[in-house]
Amino acid sequence: MRSPFSLAACLWLAGSLCARAQDSEAAQARIETDRVREMVEAGALPRKALDEAQAHMQEAEDNTVLRRTLYGRLGLEDMTETQARAMITAAERQWKRREAKVEEAAKLVELEVRPRSSLDALKADAERAKSVHAMTVARLKLFDELTQMVRAEHTAVEFGHAEDDAPEAPKISERFAGEGSVPSFGKIRAVEAAFERHFGMALPVSARGETELHKSMGFDHTGRVDVGVQPDSKEGVWLRKLLENMKVPYLAFRGAVKGQSTAAHIHIGPPSNRIRKAD
Ligand SMILES: [Zn+2]
Repeated sequence: MRSPFSLAACLWLAGSLCARAQDSEAAQARIETDRVREMVEAGALPRKALDEAQAHMQEAEDNTVLRRTLYGRLGLEDMTETQARAMITAAERQWKRREAKVEEAAKLVELEVRPRSSLDALKADAERAKSVHAMTVARLKLFDELTQMVRAEHTAVEFGHAEDDAPEAPKISERFAGEGSVPSFGKIRAVEAAFERHFGMALPVSARGETELHKSMGFDHTGRVDVGVQPDSKEGVWLRKLLENMKVPYLAFRGAVKGQSTAAHIHIGPPSNRIRKAD
């Protein structure tokens, strides 16, 4: 069954109304499935009715997951690994379900039970689901990159920055201690404004302050800002010089593998603190 709330309408309404509608759609579908299960067990409905109810419930649940992780306002840095994986699984299931419908309908067309034109809408639906899946794959790739940035910081904090002290640590970072403290909001704003004036584009911030991703990896990133620039690029060199002039501490990450830019970034502020777990 097709949801009365199309994707385009959801995007246009930007969330809240649709969010509630789809969440309650999933809740309704769960209640309906329980009701159908009881009736099937009592012999009042055929087994097929339960299969259909379960498929509808799965569809509604997958819609809810995608709405939160793909169409919603959840920033990549506020996603957890579990949510990112759930996003791709939901999109994959939706795509496979639509392909199965095309195959089923194609069999009926072969038997001349249905006209060939009846396949068009189903095929278009499957194509749409396929491109949504491609979107989740691209988003997951960005998420993985962000995770690697956090991991690089994790390694730097765990092993310290003096290369001689920790020869086993990847030699990926460079530290400027500056005045040592977490930069004020005003200083960060000044850095952003100066960057924008100089390059005519916004500072490419990949994580601002504490995020779910940092938290899930045991780090308190409060007051720190990650900028997705290569430390040796034109922008990176300029930014590091500015931070040094302003005495703002930073860490520069050149990527775990020499010559590769993956996870390269500049972390503004002192290293993150370890979150102490309560006993
Ligand atoms: Zn950082």
